[in-house]
Amino acid sequence: MKKISIFGATGSIGQNTIDLIRRAPEDYDIVALSGGRNIARLAADARDLRAQVAVTAYPELLDDLRAALAGSDVEAAAGPQAIAEAANRPADWVMSAIVGAAGLVPGLQALKQGATLALANKESLVCAGDLLMTTARAHNARILPVDSEHSAIFQALIGEDISEVERIIITASGGAFRDWPLEDLRDATVAQASSHPNWDMGQRITIDSASMFNKALEVIEAKEFFGVSPDQIEVLVHPQSIVHALVGFRDGALMSHLGAPDMRHAIGYALHWPKRRDLPVDRLDLAALGQLSFVAPDPARYPALGLAWDVMNRGGLAGAVFNGAKERALDHFIAGRIGFLDMARVVEQALTSADRQAGLLDQDMTLETVLDADHLARQETDRIVAAGVV
Ligand code: NAD
Ligand code: MG
Repeated sequence: MKKISIFGATGSIGQNTIDLIRRAPEDYDIVALSGGRNIARLAADARDLRAQVAVTAYPELLDDLRAALAGSDVEAAAGPQAIAEAANRPADWVMSAIVGAAGLVPGLQALKQGATLALANKESLVCAGDLLMTTARAHNARILPVDSEHSAIFQALIGEDISEVERIIITASGGAFRDWPLEDLRDATVAQASSHPNWDMGQRITIDSASMFNKALEVIEAKEFFGVSPDQIEVLVHPQSIVHALVGFRDGALMSHLGAPDMRHAIGYALHWPKRRDLPVDRLDLAALGQLSFVAPDPARYPALGLAWDVMNRGGLAGAVFNGAKERALDHFIAGRIGFLDMARVVEQALTSADRQAGLLDQDMTLETVLDADHLARQETDRIVAAGVV
């Protein structure tokens, strides 16, 4: 039996992971499940899957969680520290599916006890790529990508030598506003940005898809995970979301991975790796699809995308600042304090301002410096928003 923990179990990725596990419960022994405010979901899954412990991120919800678990053998715990402790419990395979920088600490803890980390939480690679990869190597632990593009690249690289890779092409659906007139983007609402044409995901990543902040994070994620240089990475808008990524080799060959837009493929691939197992995803009917199309991303429509190269070329702690500023800018957009296009401007200003603070971005990367940079980026973003962006 494989010992499994799922952090962010109540979210979109977490629920898709649980869906796969429920199809063969006898194969898995569930150690920890974590969630946020959805106590009913967390408790129901923890009871049903007979988890050792269920943890909510919010200490004030501990009593509710205890009540919801009453009469079962599942332990209840709460707060970020309890999440980190749960990630310390021995497990073979750990799903990192918390949204945002909050996923970093449990991911590091899981690697430290040698678990295979199935990484949906791209933010941790963006904030602390070096730290995560070094920790994995030091503890002989493995990270498997769960982002669909990175799972596609990983699969296209099987049996290949990374030194023979010329380029990596990550596809993007183009998000909710792909076909909107440019002048309407300024007034796009949260509700409009929260619906995705192809993928069913959590609200934050869905809005990040509309702005392409998500793609910017994924470009950085690809650099950190595969160790390629920034100029080897390209982004291509592909409205059908069927080709998830392509890898180009020195002889001009392109290897790609195609599949229906269903995260259970990438999750299931990481769950069963290095084997392949039957997965409940739609099979592609290419004749019915008829055609696949590709177009270069328009920088005027997606100002956030180009910031990824600024961040990669700057290096150091710029990724932590970028992610922290992006998370706060998104909070401000969701709260109605800034417009859709302001998010990229605010994040760019936060990056510039962090770069002006002598030595800040060039400190050694440790958990502490990453968390400090993240904190500072959030404060700086709040300051910029309070000052009023134009
Ligand atoms: P979601 O919003 O549906 O779920 C997020 C989960 O994190 C929930 O369980 C929530 O309770 C928990 N959470 C939120 N804030 C937390 C905090 N501060 N501390 C601890 N837990 C917290 O998000 P999602 O769409 O499932 O995405 C999860 C991660 O996977 C993100 O990093 C996202 O970028 C990545 N990802 C998602 C998809 C997708 O299809 N949804 C695809 C690729 C990558
Ligand atoms: Mg993705």
